[in-house]
Amino acid sequence: MNSTRLPGISKRLGYLFHSIRFRLVLWFAAILAIVLAAFSIFVYINQSRDIRSEAEYRLERKLAAFDETLTLTANGIYLPQGVLQDTDILILVSNNGQVIASRGPIPNDDADTLARQAVGEFQDHHDSSDGFVSWSQRDGLSNSNYIFVTVPIVGFSRQTGLAILGSPLDPSGLFGRLRFTLLAGTLLTLTIALVGGFWLADRAMRPVHTITQAARSIGETDLSRRLNMKGKDELGELANTFDAMLARLQAAFERQRQFVADASHELRTPLTIVNLETSRVLASRRPVDDYQQALQIIHSENDFMTGLVNDLLTLARMDAGQTAMEKFPVDLSDVAVETVERLAPLSDRRGVILEAGNLPEVHIFGDRKYLIQMMSNLVENAIKYTTGPEKRVCIETGSSDGSAWVSVSDTGPGISPEHLPHLFDRFYRVDKSRTHLTDEESAHNEATGSGLGLSIVQWIVHSHDGEINVESTLGVGTKFEVRFKSA
Ligand code: ADP
Repeated sequence: MNSTRLPGISKRLGYLFHSIRFRLVLWFAAILAIVLAAFSIFVYINQSRDIRSEAEYRLERKLAAFDETLTLTANGIYLPQGVLQDTDILILVSNNGQVIASRGPIPNDDADTLARQAVGEFQDHHDSSDGFVSWSQRDGLSNSNYIFVTVPIVGFSRQTGLAILGSPLDPSGLFGRLRFTLLAGTLLTLTIALVGGFWLADRAMRPVHTITQAARSIGETDLSRRLNMKGKDELGELANTFDAMLARLQAAFERQRQFVADASHELRTPLTIVNLETSRVLASRRPVDDYQQALQIIHSENDFMTGLVNDLLTLARMDAGQTAMEKFPVDLSDVAVETVERLAPLSDRRGVILEAGNLPEVHIFGDRKYLIQMMSNLVENAIKYTTGPEKRVCIETGSSDGSAWVSVSDTGPGISPEHLPHLFDRFYRVDKSRTHLTDEESAHNEATGSGLGLSIVQWIVHSHDGEINVESTLGVGTKFEVRFKSA
């Protein structure tokens, strides 16, 4: 049982050690520890200095009291009442380093050592006794640290020896308490910071966990899920961005799905027609005319499918960003003339008058090949959809307000306003019943359309940072106008 549990625990620990919250808390605690240590050291050094100054001051005051009243008698020292406490040490040392008398909690050995040191120091530094005062510290004496002051004793107008006066450095145990307070305070603060920091980091990181879980659970087919996090903080913003990205993805997937469905649908009709025609003529022997008609229909459907597949390929390349535009200065009127020349045979066949109107030179920066495709699609549509006794299509160019324009107008049936917003949608056709085949049309494959032409036009226009507008009046005609920035 243990063996199965261990990998789980070590995995969890590994995850914890690598988590942002753990590292965040660790850094936070490390910085706090450094700050607290620096603060404690500062306080400790300052307090030590104060405690020592205070101890020196106490000793100086005691010394001053002695100056007036210290009397060296034949029996030893006469101590004025109340000046020294039980913990204070006084050692009188003769000029040759002998302890004359000592009092206080100091063993004889230590008193001797102190006396020798004091005399040595006195002789090292001063020939005369004037102004000699020496401070020293001795740790661990009677379980306490002592501070000593050594001064010469002058009796009977000459220096008779040295007096060493010692007092506990820290009689009230301030050092210990300070050390404890600082250490305990530091540890407590660090513990609280660690626990609190971990709790805070955990709380702060919880939305990230939610986002991760959600991202994990979202499959390709389930893009409808949203995080819907209400927070206005950075993570709330992240979640909203994530939701917006999901919405875009969902829309893109939906478009893709729709595109594939529409493309399949478009292909299914001509394939069915081809299938029906071949089955019909193959069912029994028929006159030659029958075969000819069937082959014409099959040829027409084949042309339609070729056109559709080409358009699909173009759009797929455009969507994938695989269309490399080579932009150079181009004269739009030149492009218009070339388009008119290319489509003259089609317009002749359809009995449409294709005329070039006003075509002043207007230059833009663009890819000639794509601009010809754009104009061809517009003119082809105009020719295809124009009806009536006098069918006319006119192409014009011009410039105004720093932009160059080209327009294609026809005298067709027009497009009713409800269709205009969808005209550039993929596979959108105003008259869906016209998709396939009146006999004459199908024979020429000329009034059939897949609804992709204007999508391609719009893509080309946008790739040139231009805009396209359409105006149409029912029964009068339609005019497409494309505007680009002049070169
Ligand atoms: P299609 O391949 O069907 O022509 P398009 O995207 O080029 O596809 O055009 C979309 C629809 O817009 C057409 O089916 C047609 O109904 C309408 N349309 C386009 N141009 C014209 C026009 N000049 N006059 C009337 N209708 C038009």
